[in-house]
Amino acid sequence: MTTSPLTPYPSPTFSFEFFPPKTDEGREKLRGVRERLARLDPAYFSVTFGAGGSTQAGTLEAVLEIQAAGNDAAPHLSCIGTDRGFVRELLTTYRSHGIRRIVALRGDLPSGSRGAGEFRYANELVAFIREETGDWFHIEVAAYPEFHPQAASARADLENFARKVKAGADAAITQYFYNPDAYFRFLEDVRALGVEAPVVPGIMPITNYSQLARFSDACGAEIPRWIRKRLESFGDDRDAIVAFGEEVVTRLCEKLLAGGAPGLHFYTMNRAEPTLALWRNLGLPGSE
Ligand code: FAD
Repeated sequence: MTTSPLTPYPSPTFSFEFFPPKTDEGREKLRGVRERLARLDPAYFSVTFGAGGSTQAGTLEAVLEIQAAGNDAAPHLSCIGTDRGFVRELLTTYRSHGIRRIVALRGDLPSGSRGAGEFRYANELVAFIREETGDWFHIEVAAYPEFHPQAASARADLENFARKVKAGADAAITQYFYNPDAYFRFLEDVRALGVEAPVVPGIMPITNYSQLARFSDACGAEIPRWIRKRLESFGDDRDAIVAFGEEVVTRLCEKLLAGGAPGLHFYTMNRAEPTLALWRNLGLPGSE
């Protein structure tokens, strides 16, 4: 039986994640996506940050553009392969632009790169941000209801998560998942370890089966067999994949919100429509 350790949040918060576009065309397209999603009045937009160098300047650029348009923006900051001087400088830049939120991560070094830098795990980054900037930033960290692929064990991953929050994180966003029980059980376990911070489910719309299967293999997020089998059976029928994906993910969001999730964080993949479709199905305010 699934029981929620939370009382439902009176007003869940919603956020949308982008990755920094690499081309002028991508930037232009993202502008349009942001404008459509901004009408939903999210708590903030977040922008990913490529560990090991790629796209890092693009993160700041995208964050500043979101802010200039009047929305709160949270840069992700991954620490693997960096040092204290680099992170300090970045924090100073963010502060100088009035940015108050950060998503703090370890990141993954691209294969072939060498040298892990001065931070080994995200808890060290969180502690460093607090040491350097006190309470200036609202810090989100990553959570893994189906466990991080490199964790020594489920128990160790839960303890590592608790350590990361206790280092000073305010809240967490989960890796995506399609099994709500994994989320509710994760919450029970981390609450038992003394973590009271909100843990917001990360929601990945389903629009492309082969891409989703590739991501899921890499990040350890499970696509349940019954979903996989149905998606496979649609072959190249994109409309069928999108319609089925929409239905499955809408039901997932409904269960999460009904069970007390404090909000939803949408992995938009820089597209408006998949998130807007879920929004409409959920009957959330501001639907187009
Ligand atoms: P950590 O919390 O450091 O955990 C990593 C692993 O180490 C886990 O297996 C954990 O159990 C283990 N561990 C933690 N602490 C210890 C310890 N003290 N001793 C031993 N083991 C320990 N990646 C990017 O590069 N850029 C992004 O913008 C980005 N955004 C993301 C946003 C979200 C919401 C999520 C869920 C992930 C994101 N990622 C991003 C991916 C993330 O960087 C990877 O999943 C990475 O492998 C782990 O990062 P983390 O911050 O969770 O690491």
